[in-house]
Amino acid sequence: MADQETEHAAEALAQLQLDEVTGEMVSKRELKKRQQKRARKLAGAAARAEKEKNPPKPKATPEANANEIRIDPDAMFKQGFLADIYSEIPTKEVVTRFPPEPNGFLHLGHAKAIAVDFGFARYHGGKTILRFDDTNPDAEEQGFVTSIEETIRWLGYTPHAITYSSDNFQKLYDYAERLIELGKAYVCHCSDADMKRQRGGHEGKEGPRYRCEHSEQDISTNMDKFRMMRDGKYEPRAAFLRMKQDITNPNPQMWDLAAYRIPKDQTPHHRTGTQWKIYPTYDFAHCLCDSLERITHSLCTTEFLLSRESYEWLNESLQVYEPKQREFGRLNLNGTIMSKRALAALVEEKIVRGWDDPRLYTLVALRRRGVPPGAILSFINELGVTTARTFIQVARFEQSVRKYLEITVPRLMLVLDPVALVIEDAIDPEISECRIPFSTKDPEMGGYGQRLTQTIFIDRSDFRETDSKDYFRLAPGKSVGLFQAPYPVTAVSFSKNSTTGQVTEIRAVFNKDGKKPKSFIHWVPEGSRTVEVRVHSPLFKSDNPMQAEGGFKNDIHPNSETVYRDALISAGFDEVRKTGPWPKGSNNSDKDAPESVRFQAMRIGYFTVDSDATPDNVVLNRIVSLKEDNAKN
Ligand code: ATP
Ligand code: MG
Repeated sequence: MADQETEHAAEALAQLQLDEVTGEMVSKRELKKRQQKRARKLAGAAARAEKEKNPPKPKATPEANANEIRIDPDAMFKQGFLADIYSEIPTKEVVTRFPPEPNGFLHLGHAKAIAVDFGFARYHGGKTILRFDDTNPDAEEQGFVTSIEETIRWLGYTPHAITYSSDNFQKLYDYAERLIELGKAYVCHCSDADMKRQRGGHEGKEGPRYRCEHSEQDISTNMDKFRMMRDGKYEPRAAFLRMKQDITNPNPQMWDLAAYRIPKDQTPHHRTGTQWKIYPTYDFAHCLCDSLERITHSLCTTEFLLSRESYEWLNESLQVYEPKQREFGRLNLNGTIMSKRALAALVEEKIVRGWDDPRLYTLVALRRRGVPPGAILSFINELGVTTARTFIQVARFEQSVRKYLEITVPRLMLVLDPVALVIEDAIDPEISECRIPFSTKDPEMGGYGQRLTQTIFIDRSDFRETDSKDYFRLAPGKSVGLFQAPYPVTAVSFSKNSTTGQVTEIRAVFNKDGKKPKSFIHWVPEGSRTVEVRVHSPLFKSDNPMQAEGGFKNDIHPNSETVYRDALISAGFDEVRKTGPWPKGSNNSDKDAPESVRFQAMRIGYFTVDSDATPDNVVLNRIVSLKEDNAKN
């Protein structure tokens, strides 16, 4: 028995271990617990010591942000890709061009190209030509020409000249004849399928590349046929002019590209009408127009990288002035769509209010939404220019806009969903006039007077019928501060509509105990102007609506626009409207445009006047919220 006991005791002892810190014998479990606790304590102390050694940088103040947004607007020309190509291509005067096809509205991606083309020339004291690349009459319209021109000016750029590829149709035609004379072009009658086979089939991998018999025609046959094309002697698509390049070259852009075509629908051209039955292709027209306009730096996006070889081939073959093409990365946005066809569908089906609907990322839409042109340019500058394609979340763009507006626009109070609050105390005349600054940081912005009336309006969401510990705004028996008013108020009672259950009136008294309230809310006096406010959230649910199951229309949020018809705005609004544009300074839209009136509505977001507004009927759009929304709705 005794032996057994000793055995048990020995076993138990074996289960115990020495805690070297306290000298106690404890169970393995207890020891592990103690060791973990000590390790945590140690880690905490180490972190504190580290913090003392390297105190964390103070949180960015609005002033710090202000410096950040004023990052050198020329930074992208001073270093990196654009600086490199400047030193690589010597020239007396930089001449660039921005060559949009007038077949749609410009979008945020185009703003990058505009900033690069115009900005680069401006930085180097050169000039930029706005050239409408109008070689495809089926898709082009005069209306787009006007809109594109306006958008470029809105962004703050003035073209040195406005030209059209179609201005050069005769010269281009003459170049084509010269190319034929040089034996470097032939009239071909092959079908699309034939051509594909000649180029080695799918991806050029299905068979050897070869030329068709038309490539063997002599110069005078080619010339005759080309003139017949010009004179309308061929059916549409029955003949086209091909460049005789180099099919042994691994670059597909050298495999005898088309130079001239006879369009299927002989749609009259928006400038030359029915004068021409044949039209040059992009590959033929672009480099020659660049050459004719003496462009020094032909800047385009990287999809044209392989085209550079044919670009150079054609200018060289014709022995004309040779501009240099260089390629930078496209700017792509996630969470929205840019495709013209998809946008057109949204507009036609009235899913949005138009091409300029504030939920879209066309530049006309961003303008209507109130995004300042300066914010767009500063966003592009922030991203920088390289040869890599950039994929950006719309949220990142919005963050950039928010940063830009934060310290540059005045603050007002806007109550989206008003509920009356009756102050039961008498309001002495000496406290009823509140002077409210437009900015708490920049006294130069001035301010406005707002009367504290016996009845004021606050936002419905700032009142709760029942109080709780974690709630710091207004509730029965609870106090809240009113921005810039002399005293906080304490709710004493409220009434409700018996049918809807909605609170219709809150009654309150001043809280004069002198303690600073835990939170402040915005308010407007009785008699404030009623405005309509449109608050937009992302139109699409996913990051890549074009890839969404069932198509992009399947990806649309049902509630991307909330309209508040009875919102109330403070009196300072008239002052802000009169003293616009906001932000101040250059590179902001013109004073008379509705969207030049921008302000921060305290606690809600940044707003602008919508183009639907009239002098008596104010309609506002939210530009961006104050903080990034956590969830996508
Ligand atoms: P989209 O198909 O999106 O309308 P696009 O290339 O057909 O674009 P163009 O009118 O031909 O439109 O474009 C004019 C210029 O703008 C071109 O030099 C083109 O490279 C540039 N560009 C177009 N989209 C972007 C983008 N997303 N990022 C940067 N540059 C762009
Ligand atoms: Mg195009």
